[in-house]
Amino acid sequence: MRFDYCPKCGGKLVLRQIGDEGEIPYCEVCQRPWFDMFSTCVLSVVADEDNEVLLIRQSYGDTARFVGVAGFMKVGETPEEAAAREVREETGLTAESVKYIDSCFYDGRDQLMLGMLARVKKAECHISGELLEAKWFSFDEAVKTVREGSIIQRFIKSVRKEMKK
Ligand SMILES: [Zn+2]
Repeated sequence: MRFDYCPKCGGKLVLRQIGDEGEIPYCEVCQRPWFDMFSTCVLSVVADEDNEVLLIRQSYGDTARFVGVAGFMKVGETPEEAAAREVREETGLTAESVKYIDSCFYDGRDQLMLGMLARVKKAECHISGELLEAKWFSFDEAVKTVREGSIIQRFIKSVRKEMKK
């Protein structure tokens, strides 16, 4: 999202040359540039010690589709912390380790998606009210279960490829 008005004072922004960045919307009152804004989300491949992947169905949107555990990052969090929090909130499972996998920009939604591998010990899930179901799949099954061409499919494939090395 590109700013036309200052989010702080509401004044109209002007374009100003900012170093090597090119022309950036600038507030002459607050004396600061406002760079394009986007949200950062973490999208986790949740895997257990047997290399099974946990996918979820949400109680809103496309309820029939299995997706990955995802959420918006909060101010002050690292991606690893955000991924662990989302896994805990949505499934009740504790991530023993969280590792960055890959990233992808979701153009239509102005979201930077950070792919994370969250390792958990297999246990019974205590799913949040936002979920209908959480279910374990082999990596091969998981790739076929999620939407073809989706970002979670890409991240699951990345982890599967790393495991085969
Ligand atoms: Zn301003």
